[in-house]
Amino acid sequence: MPTLLLTHPDCLLHDMGPGHPERPDRLRAIENALAAPVFNRMKRERAPLAQLAVIERLHPPGYVEVIRAALPKRDPVWLDPDTAMSPGSWNAALRAAGAVVYAVDQVMSGAAANAFCAVRPPGHHAEPSRAMGFCLFNSVAIAALHARVAHGAERVAVVDFDVHHGNGTQDAFWSDKDLFYGSTHQMPLFPGTGASSETGVGNIFNAPLSPLDGSARFREAFLRHILPALDNFAPDVLLISAGFDAHRDDPLGQIQLTEADFVWVTEKLVEAADKHAGGRVVSTLEGGYDLGALARSAAAHVQVLMQASS
Ligand SMILES: [Zn+2]
Repeated sequence: MPTLLLTHPDCLLHDMGPGHPERPDRLRAIENALAAPVFNRMKRERAPLAQLAVIERLHPPGYVEVIRAALPKRDPVWLDPDTAMSPGSWNAALRAAGAVVYAVDQVMSGAAANAFCAVRPPGHHAEPSRAMGFCLFNSVAIAALHARVAHGAERVAVVDFDVHHGNGTQDAFWSDKDLFYGSTHQMPLFPGTGASSETGVGNIFNAPLSPLDGSARFREAFLRHILPALDNFAPDVLLISAGFDAHRDDPLGQIQLTEADFVWVTEKLVEAADKHAGGRVVSTLEGGYDLGALARSAAAHVQVLMQASS
């Protein structure tokens, strides 16, 4: 069974203006890297638009309508100091959520072994009723709820190695013991949440890192905290919030990872998914703002998924 790669040109049309780090070139850099021959045996599909009813399992209809109504005809409209919408943002956000939901459909039905969604805007900061941190809809949390409702998954895990804490995913999962959220992230850093004392109903596992921590601390956080908790939770499907902004070249964080660390963590997550979830892994892009580091890291991550599916 192949590894599925989902993306869509609409995701290039979300544009928060010159100088914004979350820019269309991020996706172009990843697409260029994944054009190498080694990626030829992936199954490539265009991301569908998410249905509003699927988004509204997480986001209240009133919030979805606020986002739709904010869509500008021309100049960007700012929803918070970091997050704007351009004329292409609505479709981009629906494609981003639609990609992760469709990837869950394909992996849960056995049509694909695992999947990577090269989409933007990212999602893990979006709370059920609040856009923030470059995020409009929380695609990975929407997909987690979809895995339960549409495919009968009893336990769904999201592991998030973006350099920022996924406050939106934590918020969405906070009181539901059958949803797992595990995160490594830099503290202090935006959005300010993610202390190890934030544990939900025993289903939230935060392993904050300090500025200038690198490979050893990152791996220790996974080996001591995230992976044992994930093993104990035994998910039916594993979703990954794959942000690559903990790379040492990234301008937004001060964690010193390299591509080798993203390979390592992906291998560990694939191992956990093989043990508990029949290898079912759906990964989606979150952050990563140095174009070279982002492209190399995403390509390395996807190669591990491909090895797992062969
Ligand atoms: Zn980030």
